[in-house]
Amino acid sequence: MMFKGTIPIQNIDELNGVKLFIQREDLRHPFISGNKWWKLKYNIEEAKKMRAHTILTFGGAFSNHLAATAYAGKENGFKTIAIVRGEEVENATLHFCKEQGMELHFVSREKYKLKQSESGNGIWVIPEGGANEFGMKGCSEILDARAEEFDYIVCACGTGNTISGLIASTLVKQKILGFPVLKGAEFLQNDISNNLKSIDYKAQNWQLIFDYHFGGYAKLNDELISFILDFQHRYKIPLDGIYTGKMMYGLFDLVGKYAFPVGSKILVIHTGGLQGNEGIKERFGVDLTM
Ligand SMILES: *Cc1c(COP(=O)(O)O)cnc(C)c1O
Repeated sequence: MMFKGTIPIQNIDELNGVKLFIQREDLRHPFISGNKWWKLKYNIEEAKKMRAHTILTFGGAFSNHLAATAYAGKENGFKTIAIVRGEEVENATLHFCKEQGMELHFVSREKYKLKQSESGNGIWVIPEGGANEFGMKGCSEILDARAEEFDYIVCACGTGNTISGLIASTLVKQKILGFPVLKGAEFLQNDISNNLKSIDYKAQNWQLIFDYHFGGYAKLNDELISFILDFQHRYKIPLDGIYTGKMMYGLFDLVGKYAFPVGSKILVIHTGGLQGNEGIKERFGVDLTM
């Protein structure tokens, strides 16, 4: 079910003299979506090396990471356990996780904040979002030689793990732009710096743009929804409402304001997450599925 061949880089459009392209990581795997496939790559490898029988991880009720871990765990013969933030609920994401055999434990938001666990005794622990050194190592393989001709690489940020891996694999003359989808995500500046310090990466060729979180994680408004529907209709490329939709909105807004020099070539990384649109349909009655 893996995508066969090289993941396409597609032309989106040329606007205000800027050429926009997208690397379709959403196509890599139907269930281990986008950047989550890359984050799990070395976590699964390490879990096997450690001879673990179980993968334990954490996430919210609509988490792309939980869905991806449930599937990847099953595929690789691991038992999977998830600590889920908040009261017990049912939704498409969690239903999918259970179908893959994942065991779910719901804990209050207060207790969830205290989450901490170490690997051992046959249990491989993956932090929320797959954001550990193995996740970052996987994400440093997302870009290939085709990326070298681009002036800018763009992605959506949650934990900042993906962008850290991307930055680690770019040329110093390139600039990597991240669009955090959480409100109050200024901490990412530090987290990403620390990630890069840990691998002795020194160039400052990256920047976070905090203006497009739309009120916070999984918050949407009519303007964002119209943008996503219009984008999908125009370019026949699906976006999710939680991550890639906000990133693309922000990018188009900046291109519209001539924030990039004429002649710039921009590569957007589609980090997947389309299963999240099911949750948006359930919660808000807004159908973003293409
Ligand atoms: C998890 C996720 C992200 C965020 O990745 P981080 O490494 O946590 O910054 C971005 N886009 C999509 C679609 C995701 O599922």
